[in-house]
Parts: sequence; structure tokens; C-alpha cells
Amino acid sequence: MPGPSKRHRSPGPPSQRLGGIVLYRINSGEADLIVSFLTMEMGILTAIAKNARKSIKRFGGGLLDPARAAYYYFKIRNHRDLCLVERGEDNPKAPILPNLPLIHALASWALELVLAFEMPFNPSLDAFNLLVRHLKDLSDPLPTEPPALEARTASLVFTHHYLKKTGFAPNFQCHFCGKVPSVELEDLPWSWDFIAPKIICPDCLKIRGIVAPRVPLGLLVALKKLPFPMRPVFPLPDDWLTLAEHYYGDLVETITGRSLKSRKVIEELNRLS
Ligand SMILES: [Zn+2]
Repeated sequence: MPGPSKRHRSPGPPSQRLGGIVLYRINSGEADLIVSFLTMEMGILTAIAKNARKSIKRFGGGLLDPARAAYYYFKIRNHRDLCLVERGEDNPKAPILPNLPLIHALASWALELVLAFEMPFNPSLDAFNLLVRHLKDLSDPLPTEPPALEARTASLVFTHHYLKKTGFAPNFQCHFCGKVPSVELEDLPWSWDFIAPKIICPDCLKIRGIVAPRVPLGLLVALKKLPFPMRPVFPLPDDWLTLAEHYYGDLVETITGRSLKSRKVIEELNRLS
């Protein structure tokens, strides 16, 4: 005679403590949350946090807020099911974002970008480190005035380096003749096209009679050598930032085939400032 099913008594797999960053969360049922994390060890993990909207003990202090980096205890049954996240544990060294709408919107952009590209159970240490580094940049006091320029430049640097990691970074070279934007060239506007993505030099534009959105040479030169590590020494000017944000926004939306919510929020906040 078969014994009682072990399934009902088994405590299940042991918990795993992983460093994670909250990318996204939605409410589920009466008090649960479904949360997507980027973890260092396992890539994206999506987990149910039971009773999390009521449990101050297990998830208090905003441990499941988007952009929060902490340690989390996961129960992972197999690679297909939703995991269970049992509790969080504060990491005192993790960045905490200041309570500014634009900083939160820029962080959301980074989280949405990562969520669009990273895969479950497919860790990328580069992606994890880039995101932590960027959240640190956004959480540090920003010395320049107005502060938004430095934060927006940091966001651009993150976007560029993250896309480079995924292999989708724009190639800063004329699509037709291969010329590379440089300060030695005559200061005429180039063109860029996010769909390819490609840039076209002034000569090729003229010869081919191409009508396309223009971009200042100086901006291309600046983008080509965006600094690493991430924190920019000099923020880009407002009009260049607006152009570059538009370009990278279109590029990301073309690659991923989806519109990123945070992009509209950033545009709106910049318009109001
Ligand atoms: Zn050319």
C-alpha cells in the first residue's frame, strides 16, 4: 500500500539568499505582490511575495519598492514556475534614491530597459553591476546646477553602456562612407536614424540628397566617448540631452518593440522644468 504523499508534507526546496534589485511589481490577490527582481546569480527572477502588502516584518522599509537593492530569500522549485520570495533583508551599502520625481523616473527607465532585455535564470554580472552602479550615481548628491543635467547625462551613459553590452549600441560611423565623427571635422550637422541604427555624415547627406533628422557633430563626438565608469564628469547641455534622449528612446523602443512608460514621464518632467 502506498504511503501518504510526500508532496504535502515536504518543506520544498531550501531558501536561497540572493542579492537582488526590484525591477517591477504588481498587486496580486488580497495582499500578495508579484515582483520581478534582477539577481546577480540567476538573472531575472519573478516571485510571489505572500501577504507582502501587510507584512512589515518580512518586507518592511520599502524592501519591495522598485529600484530597491537588498538581499532576498527565494524558494525556487523549478525554472518554469513562479518562485516564492519569503523575506527581504536590508543591505546597508545599497543605494537609496532621493525622493525626487525625475530621479525616480530615470531609475524607472533603467529598470524597464533591464526588464526588456534580461532573461529569467540567465545571469549577467555585467548587467547587474551596471544597474547597481547607475542607481548609486542617481542616489548620490548631484553637485551641478541644475542637478537634472547630471542625472540625465548619467542616465544616457547607462543606456549607452547597457545597449553596448547587449550588442545594440549605435555604431558611430557614417553608414555610407565609414567616416567617424571627430572634432577635426567641419562642424556641420550629421543625421541619425534610430531604425538602422545609423548615422550619416554631411557629405553623404548632400551627395545622396537625404532628408533626415539632424544631429550636431559635437553631440555625436560626446556620445562616442561617453565616459566609463558611469558618473559623467561634465553633464551634457539641455538641448543635446533632449536630442540624445529622443534618439535612445526611439532606438530602445524599436529594438524591444514596446513603448517604455518611464520615457513619457521623463519627457513630461523635463518639459515642466
Ligand atoms: Zn559619409
